[in-house]
Amino acid sequence: MKMWISNCLECTDDKPHSRCRDTLAHSVVNEEDSPIPAERIIDVGLDDTDNVRLALTNDTRGRYCALSHCWGPVDKRPTCVTRANEDSFFAGIEVGGLSRTFQDAILVTRGLGIRYLWIDSLCIVQDDVAHWRQESARMGSIYENAFLRIAASGATNSTEGLFQRNLDRKTSEKRPPTIDLRQKNSKQALIHFRAARENTNGDHISPLARRAWVFQESRLSRRTIFFNRPGITWECRACRMNERNHTDTVPRSQMYSWTKHVEDYSDCVLTYESDRLIALEGLASELGKLRPDTYHLGTWLGDVSGLMWRIVEPEVGMRGLPDLPSWTWASRPGRKRFATGFGPIKRADGTTSTISFQDNGRTLILEASLTECIVTDDRFVNLLRADGKGGTTPTGLVRFDDASDYQRLHCSMLGTDWNSALISQPNDILRGDTPKGENYYWALFLQPIENRQDHYRRVGIGLIWSTPDIEDYLEKQTFHLV
Ligand SMILES: [Zn+2]
Repeated sequence: MKMWISNCLECTDDKPHSRCRDTLAHSVVNEEDSPIPAERIIDVGLDDTDNVRLALTNDTRGRYCALSHCWGPVDKRPTCVTRANEDSFFAGIEVGGLSRTFQDAILVTRGLGIRYLWIDSLCIVQDDVAHWRQESARMGSIYENAFLRIAASGATNSTEGLFQRNLDRKTSEKRPPTIDLRQKNSKQALIHFRAARENTNGDHISPLARRAWVFQESRLSRRTIFFNRPGITWECRACRMNERNHTDTVPRSQMYSWTKHVEDYSDCVLTYESDRLIALEGLASELGKLRPDTYHLGTWLGDVSGLMWRIVEPEVGMRGLPDLPSWTWASRPGRKRFATGFGPIKRADGTTSTISFQDNGRTLILEASLTECIVTDDRFVNLLRADGKGGTTPTGLVRFDDASDYQRLHCSMLGTDWNSALISQPNDILRGDTPKGENYYWALFLQPIENRQDHYRRVGIGLIWSTPDIEDYLEKQTFHLV
């Protein structure tokens, strides 16, 4: 591990590891001298004692590790700090009384000569909503500024530890890995590990990787050691390495578009649906430093494609967030994908749609096309002209966001595909059919809201294919989307 770290630290400005010093917003982290961006931290001490303690950071500076772990079911809950027990944690914590994963994380932190360790269930008061809100909002910068993230990738709960002792004892013919970092009065530490399989995939297939709260921890962290079931792997912004030092390059996730982040995030699992936007707040806040744009409810104002989501797999057990406006992907449960290769519709007069936020980001005001349409039983769409008459041949297809059915809706064409060869993307909307024009338009399907003039809510997404008279339907109107 120390070799991986020194390899990452020994870099000059023109080397790939120079990226490992930077935040996603490209500011250099001064790891030795920056204040720890959390209110509390575990001080594991400089000596190898049986006790550690919870401490207020105040202006504490220096390197710290941050733990990523699965909490697991209620009966395997990790050690938690509450208002009732916090004084005893400030006074000192006996390491042996902590959850196994925490004990191991303390061993690793000490073994690496690092004094501080951040663990969510100990550093956030678990029965104080205000404290939870305050510290969860800092979560992004806590992981981004950490010297190292310790990822308990192989453990499904906090009792299993980093080294999978109990699990491996049952299944492995060889002795499980051992670690001995407790040699008093010695700077030497001996670690034996099983050889890893030849993969350097980090934790992308582990129980931890699918946790929604871990998503931004993973995207923001600059260096991570994954404690997987097959072995230990390293990942920084420049490389991935396994125990045999087999090296892979790392996908440049800092180059991902916001919609790509949301797609990957939507593949993760939330315990509490109400956390869906909160668990992404740190990443949005960091990326916001890079773009002069307004962000509300998971969506950037300057990127129309953020509205063009569809659900590719519903999420079992989640009911959606009815308090959120219908236009945000966060209002619906399930895995999402966005229209790609997407560009604004250029009209004959050269103008495109415009969007703005109102009502503290809950209402979208669109200046865009808005056309009434009839939906047939098999989800084909006929656009209607202003006089209510429509073409007799289908001009599009719609996919509804839920199981509801609609016969008459409004449709707003917001973008066109730059490359109609990207036919794989809409295939599941089109159910194998091919657009009948050379090009097609991505459209939102909207239902008028009773007694609120010009107000609509989203009910689906679809495609309208280009027809010779399509310009007749593209005239812009101003309306509200809630
Ligand atoms: Zn590096």
